[in-house]
Order: sequence, then C-alpha cells, then structure tokens
Amino acid sequence: MTLPPARPSLPGAGLLPGAGLPKPSSPTPSLPTPGFPEPGHDHQPCLAETVARAEAIFESRGLRLTPLRRSVLEEVAGSHAAVGAYDVLDRLARKGGRRLAPISVYRALDSLVEAGLVHRLESRNAFFACHVAHAANRRQIVFACERCGTVAEVAAPGVFDGIATAAGGVGFAPARALVEVIGNCGRCAATSGVEAVHAG
Ligand SMILES: [Zn+2]
Ligand SMILES: [Zn+2]
Ligand SMILES: [Zn+2]
Repeated sequence: MTLPPARPSLPGAGLLPGAGLPKPSSPTPSLPTPGFPEPGHDHQPCLAETVARAEAIFESRGLRLTPLRRSVLEEVAGSHAAVGAYDVLDRLARKGGRRLAPISVYRALDSLVEAGLVHRLESRNAFFACHVAHAANRRQIVFACERCGTVAEVAAPGVFDGIATAAGGVGFAPARALVEVIGNCGRCAATSGVEAVHAG
C-alpha cells in the first residue's frame, strides 16, 4: 500500500527473495494463498507463521519481540481484518484486566509496522497484519472489505507504472504512493448482491 523510499535492508526480503514475482510453491501449504483467505479457514497457521516471522525479524535486527509487541501483534494478526489501535487497546484490557497507556500500544504498533509485520490501512486509520512475507518495497495495492473488514495485499506493479506515468506528465516527483481500494470481498459481495469483478 505504501511505496517507501528504497532502504538498504528490507524486512522479510531475505525470507522471500522473489517477492514481487508470483509466489513460488509455498513450503507451508496450510496457509491461505495470497489474496482473500478462504472463509472459515483454520487461522492458527496464519497467526503462528506471522509470530514466528516476527521473532526472526526482530532477532535479526538485534531487537526483542517484547511481551507487549507480541500481544499487540497477536491481536492484530488474530484475523485478516484491519483493526484500530483503540480496538487493540480494548481487547488487551479485556484479556489482561489492565488498561495500557495508548502511547505504549502505538509504540508497539510502530515497531511492528517498521518491521513490516503490520501495515497501516491509511484511509481507515487502522492496522492489519502482513500474513505473507514480501519485500518492503513490493509494489502492491490493498483491497479492504467495508463489510467484514478483511484486507488483502495484492502485488500490482502496473498500477504504480500508471502513477509514475501520470506523475511524469505533470512534472511531479512522487516520493511515496499508496493505493487502497474499499469495496466488498467476494464473500460479502455474494451475500449482499454486490457485483464483484471476476478475472478472466
Ligand atoms: Zn488466516
Ligand atoms: Zn504485507
Ligand atoms: Zn468481506
């Protein structure tokens, strides 16, 4: 969703060298394919994979996946939907019986975003977990379902080529581009009578 400036080290890049290209056959077949997950799928492997990736990324940076960072990640990664920081705060309070200062939750979210484990859904001021490792600079767009809240990250380099062309046409130097599309996921479209676009 974002196109940050090139960075020397990309979180997750080492885990998936071919990021940006079609994903090679997955070593973990229990995980859903990129895009929208199957409704009612077993989410436990998705959550476990994201937490394991978090441990590896933080360790590789000489940082710790502190209990707070881990709890916040588990709340955000507990589904494929975007959640607000205050939802995370509420859920943690319900579980732990103690309300954390919002700033500590925001700091934990920031460190998870910085590590590429959580992304911001800018248009909704919400956060969603990255369930498929990819390079930080992958040219991807985000589809967010306004009914169920599910979010999918989809590589779409052509979209950014179009933005670059349009920017060039007006002599604009883009530093960062993000594309978020709000609509209905296939499942919600089917149950609400909304017309979904079908590829092919
Ligand atoms: Zn899942
Ligand atoms: Zn991601
Ligand atoms: Zn939906």
